[in-house]
Amino acid sequence: MENSGEAFDAIVVGAGVMGSSTAYHLSKRGYKVLLLDQFDFLHHRGSSHGESRTLRATYPEPYYAAMVKESVILWEQAQSEIGYKVYFSTPQLDFGPSDGTSLRSVIDNCGPNSVPHRILDAHQLLDEFPARINMPESWVAVVSEIGGVVKPTKAVSMFQTLAVKNGAVLRDNMEVREIERDDVRGGVLVSTANGERFSGKKCVVAAGAWMKKLVERVTGIEIPITPLETCVMYWRIKEGHEAEFDIGGGFPTFASYGEPYIYGTPSLEFPGLIKIPVHGGHPCDPDKRKWVTRPGPTVLEPLKEWIRGRFGDRVGASDPVMAESCMYSMTPDEDFVIDFLGGDLGKDVVVAGGFSGHGFKMAPAVGRILADLVISGEAKGVDLKHFELRRFEGNPKGNVKHFGDQVAFSAAFLN
Ligand SMILES: Cc1cc2nc3c(=O)[nH]c(=O)nc-3n(C[C@H](O)[C@H](O)[C@H](O)COP(=O)(O)OP(=O)(O)OC[C@H]3O[C@@H](n4cnc5c(N)ncnc54)[C@H](O)[C@@H]3O)c2cc1C
Repeated sequence: MENSGEAFDAIVVGAGVMGSSTAYHLSKRGYKVLLLDQFDFLHHRGSSHGESRTLRATYPEPYYAAMVKESVILWEQAQSEIGYKVYFSTPQLDFGPSDGTSLRSVIDNCGPNSVPHRILDAHQLLDEFPARINMPESWVAVVSEIGGVVKPTKAVSMFQTLAVKNGAVLRDNMEVREIERDDVRGGVLVSTANGERFSGKKCVVAAGAWMKKLVERVTGIEIPITPLETCVMYWRIKEGHEAEFDIGGGFPTFASYGEPYIYGTPSLEFPGLIKIPVHGGHPCDPDKRKWVTRPGPTVLEPLKEWIRGRFGDRVGASDPVMAESCMYSMTPDEDFVIDFLGGDLGKDVVVAGGFSGHGFKMAPAVGRILADLVISGEAKGVDLKHFELRRFEGNPKGNVKHFGDQVAFSAAFLN
């Protein structure tokens, strides 16, 4: 195996949004960084590609809002460094049955987390946005000003470009096969399938849906991260109503709690279309995907009914007009994994994965946290206890929650 000869302060494995953000933060602080990906940069085979991701600070868990708020500042900072926008602000609407435990927790967390919000009933919601949104009388809505859309492929490209400007080295088509202790120089040796080997003082592994496979191969340690194949679907807005659903007119990003959990973004990337998918998927092998672009009728029919119920005849609910396959990386409790890998590699390898279908918005804060862990061994201003690997020791479900799962996780997604 050929050693590239170059030694890095940090090697980041995985150039999705988390790895790219980490490379950006480390390089900005003067660290010599190598960012590797197994496929072409900006590929569509992982989780960070496409046209829109929701940003919201409304969470049933109390510990994400601070990371979202930090990320808003960091998104804006990175945008001003690159000179173009990747984050487009608009309000966030969360709504659903008023007795739902997840939505109740969302509302309860707003005050303590200083998330500005207003609670609306069905009548007030009708008049809130240019597009009239219907909800049953038994539902409740919460509108927050911290919301919006992040453009994923463009954002990953932004972090990579800024990292290069800061001196980072980026190499794609480099599948990492081994990460081992460097007994000579200290730190780690990272080897790729095509026979190259790099040395780094530290390593960050942000391998998305491949995390479990890679870490198990390298160390034998099993991280409970399950890849889930999902798809986003776009629906046609009826002629004459397009402006009502446009982000420019203030249409919100939204999450509808209950069965099924449905989310969506305003019309932005494709004029005349609105993105409305179901928050769920079916377990998959990331290397042998089915490339599902629409769920089966047990998921699709309730979604169509939901669209008719909320938007009447202003959005065509007969069939989605466009769809794209994507993967979530699920942990059993839907909380992230951000920790030192431990074992033989101790604190020299940091793992960041299991973003469970809701990580994109927080990529700037996650990158900052990972850079802190690499540089000083601890992350400033954030308590990482909910993200530690040891929460699964003797407790496969992980963090205890008093509300239900957010993501529908089942083979039935296809039926
Ligand atoms: C349809 C969909 C909708 C979503 N909506 C939202 C949303 O609205 N809001 C939100 O905040 N989040 C959302 N998410 C979640 C968010 O997109 C993910 O949490 C985030 O993109 C995860 O990024 P990542 O860098 O961890 O993984 P990835 O983007 O998958 O990156 C991992 C990278 O590691 C590389 N890799 C893996 N193994 C190796 C190896 N051995 N060697 C080298 N490279 C390797 C892969 O090729 C890949 O490029 C959504 C996700 C999906 C799929």
